[in-house]
Amino acid sequence: MKTITLREGKERSLWRRHPWVFQGSVAKGGGDPGETVKVVAHDGQFLAWAAFSPSSQIRVRAWSFDEAERIDAAFFARRVKAAVAMRARLAIDANGVRLIHGEADGLPGLIVDRYDDVLSAQFLSAGVERWKDVIADALVAETGCPFIYERSDASVRGLEGLAVVTGWLRHPETADGSRRTTEVTIHENGWRLTLDVAEGHKTGYYLDQRDNRGLFARLVRELGGQTVLNCYSYTGGFSVAALAGGAREVTSVDSSGPALARAQAHVALNGFDPAAHTALDADVNGTLRRFIQEGRTFDAIVLDPPKFAPTAAHAERAARAYKDINRLAFKLLNPGGLLLTFSCSGGISADLFHKIVAGAGMDAGGDGYLLGRLEATPDHPTTLTFPEGEYLKGLAIVRKP
Ligand code: SAH
Repeated sequence: MKTITLREGKERSLWRRHPWVFQGSVAKGGGDPGETVKVVAHDGQFLAWAAFSPSSQIRVRAWSFDEAERIDAAFFARRVKAAVAMRARLAIDANGVRLIHGEADGLPGLIVDRYDDVLSAQFLSAGVERWKDVIADALVAETGCPFIYERSDASVRGLEGLAVVTGWLRHPETADGSRRTTEVTIHENGWRLTLDVAEGHKTGYYLDQRDNRGLFARLVRELGGQTVLNCYSYTGGFSVAALAGGAREVTSVDSSGPALARAQAHVALNGFDPAAHTALDADVNGTLRRFIQEGRTFDAIVLDPPKFAPTAAHAERAARAYKDINRLAFKLLNPGGLLLTFSCSGGISADLFHKIVAGAGMDAGGDGYLLGRLEATPDHPTTLTFPEGEYLKGLAIVRKP
């Protein structure tokens, strides 16, 4: 077993059970990509068992802080079992669920989403890459899902020195001798939604917004929203929510044609009039400006943009971009109208996001009631020891008349 010795004073974060050690904290030692290493303080005191990653700034990711624990197949089976059991306790009324959320579940770099009988997985660190086969076996055993599709195509793989890998990881023949396709239908909030684990964004869908889509349907109904604009709609989850909430006219805007085609299909799939929905393949910022010029207004607007600030270093430019779209959306909102606005940037805190949106409202000449502070569904948990895990934050605002 190779040993990694930390510089004096650099043991504190592992003491607090934070799982990362940066390159600059390592005094000596090394290993192969994903190799299990023993991490010790400068005086030789045990700190953690961890995975080594020679090309990453995050040089070490801890598996366990218990010296007696062995990092083997049984260890991964225990971690997978605990993560799946936590979701089972939450009584989530959907068959699209995040089962493993990386560091929060003690499996740094591993993301696993369950879509009906298919697991869609991202292996994003050298450690989980090395244990891929063992983890896949544990996932099948623990979930009963026979199919695993790998979506290790996120850009962070590059930082770990890992190439893009996509394709079936477990793909047994079905009972009738046929092969399962990558197309899946899930249900959430009582709606049916489709996705393709091979073609969709990330693992196929944005499960973290499930509860916020449910909330949106409820608020549209309570507030009597008739005209709805869903910006960065992807496959129209919030658009279906708006129709379920009684909206008469819903417009989805996204720059992805395939996502919009699915959004349109989802309207009919859920029994709504396809004529009530318009899919716009366009840039959101430009569309908001055009709508303002045309004098259009809406009773409810959703802003769910992609990550503008991947890290805190991008926060300033991202803050301007968030402020811009929120100001434009505010202008398009009828008095008494509802705005659901989000940021999934880890580099923008909930506090900063609140300030940005408040500034945007001010610039647009309006004020609003804060109906709620929103976050990711609890199957995407943040833990006490790993605050970096917090990424999605949002606000539900009603524009003052
Ligand atoms: N609200 C969605 C998830 C949105 S993800 C849901 O509930 O499922 C962000 C979306 O923004 C992606 O679908 C992406 O295609 C789209 N997008 C990114 N940049 C864009 C831009 N400049 N204009 C319009 N859409 C954009």
